[in-house]
Amino acid sequence: MVSKRILVTGGAGFLGSHLCERLLRSGCHVLCMDSFLTGSHANVASFLAHRNFALITHDIAQPLPAGMEVDEIYNLACPASPPHYQADPLHTVKTSVYGAIHLLELAQRCGARILQASTSEVYGDPEVSPQTEAYWGHVNPLGPRACYDEGKRCAETLFFDFHRRHGVAIKVARIFNTYGPRMQPDDGRVVSNFIVQALRGDSLTVYGDGSQTRSFCYVDDLIEGLLALMASPLEVTGPINLGNPTELSMCELADRVLTLTGACTAVDFRPLPQDDPRQRRPDITRAKHVLGWEPTVPLSVGLEKTVDYFRQLLSATSTTSVDGVVQVMREEGAS
Ligand code: NAD
Ligand code: UDP
Repeated sequence: MVSKRILVTGGAGFLGSHLCERLLRSGCHVLCMDSFLTGSHANVASFLAHRNFALITHDIAQPLPAGMEVDEIYNLACPASPPHYQADPLHTVKTSVYGAIHLLELAQRCGARILQASTSEVYGDPEVSPQTEAYWGHVNPLGPRACYDEGKRCAETLFFDFHRRHGVAIKVARIFNTYGPRMQPDDGRVVSNFIVQALRGDSLTVYGDGSQTRSFCYVDDLIEGLLALMASPLEVTGPINLGNPTELSMCELADRVLTLTGACTAVDFRPLPQDDPRQRRPDITRAKHVLGWEPTVPLSVGLEKTVDYFRQLLSATSTTSVDGVVQVMREEGAS
């Protein structure tokens, strides 16, 4: 049987590296394309020796290398943490919009299926809860988050226009907050921030009064959802919400992290960033019915695995670089 050739953009990032690993395990040929803006060489170093793995350093906002032939494309390339995507907002928009066009043209030429890693941010600061795919969202198009939110919304538009005009086989996943091992310690998102701060004995930085909510999905669950969506019948285009509906406030998350780590550090309340969504919870009815998918890892279990990961990483990085340690942990099989 000939194995599929799969392009994973953003494959050296948090989600992308887990996806590459999972695809390699199932016998696929994986071509990882990444600009290393927020991704890390350590995340993919142990795949390099695999005969089915190839790495291209490339920015998807630029025209793609000529002559690529693939069967499936997962487009995960885009900084996902607010401080990272706001650092160069114009490039964030170009990544989502030019990147989508380049990859959709490749899919059209190759007759490949293409999956877009969209986001719950397309719902903005939602006025309804939980959020269903039918909700059109409440996004400030002028604010500091807009480069990400509107870029991702435009990418969805491009996916559906390529589908209608050119018959491209598209899949759009709206991913809700996902966490787990292999997030960067300086990523800036809340789960990694709280865990790293607790393990270092620093105060936990809670933005605003901490009453805003999120619903966190463990990375292994999310990856299975992406695979199920890619494998779904052609007529399933999405958008489909992928996330864990268990909702909690940022103060509750801080308490959970303090309990799990055994840290007795203080909580440092900081100003709430502009346009920070007040609440977020996915309605995953569609994913359950159409894909037969739902998350299986409870927050307590996923957080414990993530704490273990960062504990190992930080104790080793007191003497060496983060990249070196992540690579060694990957080679030793720590997920
Ligand atoms: P990440 O920052 O760890 O990974 C993003 C990867 O994309 C990095 O390896 C980065 O170097 C690469 N990249 C960025 N811009 C690029 C460009 N122009 N060309 C090539 N590579 C580029 O983030 P993540 O959490 O792994 O997110 C992966 C994808 O999933 C993103 O598209 C993100 O928007 C989406 N998503 C993630 C979450 C989440 O909670 N993790 C939620 C919603 C959506
Ligand atoms: N947050 C926080 N402390 C931090 C980082 C984030 O309280 O150190 C808050 C942030 O304001 C938001 C929530 O945690 O309300 C989730 O933030 P994250 O950046 O992880 O994801 P997003 O806002 O994109 O959902």
